[in-house]
Amino acid sequence: MKAQCRECGVHRMVGKTHRWEDGCIVDRSAGTANLIVYEVSAANSWMEELGRIMGMPLDRLVFNAATSAAEGVVRDSIQSHPALFRLASTPPLHRIVYAMSAQLMEGIGAGRIELLAQKGGQGRRETRLRVSHPFNPRLVSSLVAGFVRAFYGLPVTCHTREEGGAFIVEIRQDPAGAGEGVYHRLAPARLVPARGHAPVALPACGRCGAPRGIGDLFVWDPQRGMIAERAGGQRVIFASLYLFDSMIREVHAELGEPALEVFQEVERRLFARKLASAPAGGDPWEEEGLRGDLALRGLGLLRKLEADGEGARIVVDNVFVAPIVAGRLLALWEYRYGREAECEYSITGNTLDLSIHPAA
Ligand SMILES: [Zn+2]
Repeated sequence: MKAQCRECGVHRMVGKTHRWEDGCIVDRSAGTANLIVYEVSAANSWMEELGRIMGMPLDRLVFNAATSAAEGVVRDSIQSHPALFRLASTPPLHRIVYAMSAQLMEGIGAGRIELLAQKGGQGRRETRLRVSHPFNPRLVSSLVAGFVRAFYGLPVTCHTREEGGAFIVEIRQDPAGAGEGVYHRLAPARLVPARGHAPVALPACGRCGAPRGIGDLFVWDPQRGMIAERAGGQRVIFASLYLFDSMIREVHAELGEPALEVFQEVERRLFARKLASAPAGGDPWEEEGLRGDLALRGLGLLRKLEADGEGARIVVDNVFVAPIVAGRLLALWEYRYGREAECEYSITGNTLDLSIHPAA
């Protein structure tokens, strides 16, 4: 069967496993807000810039958060289909699960993943995979490590090396491994969206059910496990909200409130760069258009928008990555009105209440 919908071009694994609801991209089996569409270049420079601003490398933290995020996502689906997973964890059926996971990775634009070998019983399991076109080699390795942790339990160690333009990832179960405290702390929160106050209409593809806007905005390359924006050609990924959530909480726990401002500032800079390189057609600040765009990308449900050249007040429900949405909207206001601005926001439940005003 073809990987993509013949009608709209959206990867079938994404449409089959997710629905667009209340401003979120919701995992059908777990009912949790699961993905946001995010620019790969931003995801990569995000960590670099964040590390630079904070004056410390974030590799370890990012690896742990990503592993924990992947583990959370897989655990959710295991809990929804326990019998299937018990059956599938026995050889040779584990190959089916790897193939399904590889399809999902391909569908979200993470890259292409092949299982090369798996050997050893519980506690001594070794898995070797080949990853090509990863959106980020380190993050893809950690996603695979999280998958193995969720699937077979026990800590794992992970080694990645480059070979012929791809990455060979070797994951070993390591019952004596350290770091359990970290994983416990990073355990993802359940991200459950509330029913929206102002539903957004996203007309669906008659064939696969994914919103038509997704096929209009993005184009899939299943052979390479990549997704690009039709306008501008930037690579994007359907990124795990768990990952952002874990990372934001971890940095917040380490560094307190100022860390959230750092996230917001990094996002503002990166999004401003994107707007400068690929100018948006039409008015990006037009209410219906903005509501649809936020919802398609899983960034929340726009409830209220008042904006002019003197500032803006914006209320968005079901926001699970507040500093990112705030940073983006701030950059978008600056782009629209051509002036530097500042913002304050509060988050109550998962509702973001954001005020923007021109910089003093
Ligand atoms: Zn379709």
